[in-house]
Amino acid sequence: MAADHRRLGRELDIFDSDPLIGAGLPFWLPAGAAARHEVESYIHDLERRAGYQHVHSPVLGRRELYERSGHWAHFSGDMFPPLHLGGDDALVLRPSLCPHHALIFKSRHRSYRELPLRVAEIGAMFRAERSGVLGGLARVRAISLNDGHVFCAADQAGEEVAEALRLMVRSHAALGVRVSSYRLSLRGDGGKYAGDDDAWDQAGRVLRGALDAAGVPYSVAAGEAAFYGPKIDVQVVDPAGRESTLSTVQVDFHQPARFDLSYADAAGGRSRPVMVHRSLVGSFERLFAHLIEVHAGALPPWYAPVQLVVLPVAAEQDAAAAAFARDAIAAGLRVEVRHDGSVGARIRDAAGRRIPYVAVIGAREAPRGEVALRLRDGRRLPARSGVEAIALIARMVSDRALELLPPG
Ligand SMILES: [Zn+2]
Repeated sequence: MAADHRRLGRELDIFDSDPLIGAGLPFWLPAGAAARHEVESYIHDLERRAGYQHVHSPVLGRRELYERSGHWAHFSGDMFPPLHLGGDDALVLRPSLCPHHALIFKSRHRSYRELPLRVAEIGAMFRAERSGVLGGLARVRAISLNDGHVFCAADQAGEEVAEALRLMVRSHAALGVRVSSYRLSLRGDGGKYAGDDDAWDQAGRVLRGALDAAGVPYSVAAGEAAFYGPKIDVQVVDPAGRESTLSTVQVDFHQPARFDLSYADAAGGRSRPVMVHRSLVGSFERLFAHLIEVHAGALPPWYAPVQLVVLPVAAEQDAAAAAFARDAIAAGLRVEVRHDGSVGARIRDAAGRRIPYVAVIGAREAPRGEVALRLRDGRRLPARSGVEAIALIARMVSDRALELLPPG
């Protein structure tokens, strides 16, 4: 049976839910929060090195904001009803971060010299999913999105899309996610799309150009575009063979016009920027639903919730175990010491929790400052010094290796 992230998520203390909180509103338990924090830090750092500036924006906005962006006309069926506070004002739980980021761009005078201006945020957004389709982390009503928007000149959009695709490939590799296919999602029939034909054609050309430059094969899907522009969907497959989308990149001429965005161009006039929307890993809920399943709960060491469990064989080794754990924590590792029960039971418990490394310290190891490492896949390593053991694990973690040991 393929791994089910809902069962594993509960077993591994990653997340759970309570009917009193509500359907589609899971909470993250300490193990899940530790893993998520590590992945968020990685994405934050990857984006910062790629020239992004991070911002924070509120999860609510006035209804007028979404009327302006077009969400109200094209997307209100997926939004929660407005909150009325008296008077004419109504607030809406946001269905996307784009309008806030557009207004962050607009909040300062912008020059062509600042472009491409790359803004990113891990922010909450909301979707009024029907309760029948909700399950675990895969479909939720409160979404934490790895979002970003690049404001650039029209002739810079192609390179920005290509760079977003490269960052996606890099982050997927680090997380142990395999891309199954690329999909170019275009408009379909019907009136649910905003903007004029020229803008759609131009945006489609930019996306095709980036896919061709990346040299990746792709399929074309009509009717899967966002309402404001076409997009590239990066598809992944879960162990049951179901395809889903984590990462997307979109080219948008519509919202910059709706919000009347402009910058001072090189010729001394005002020009309208293009908005490239991109999410490298999608929402953290859907990402972790996928990660838990593709790794069958055995997350790679760098973002495993607990990376190392220390087991003193008997009370005589408690002091040695405590000293070793202190050194491992000081080296940046997430560590637990377990005392209760037989060594065999404690090793089985650690394996059941998919903890990558177990360090056993017995009467032979303690006086020499050594530990005997066991890996979660059952492999046992010869005793080695505590210093060497910590260096080995710390290296696998800092390399963001998907394996437990270096090759060879
Ligand atoms: Zn957006």
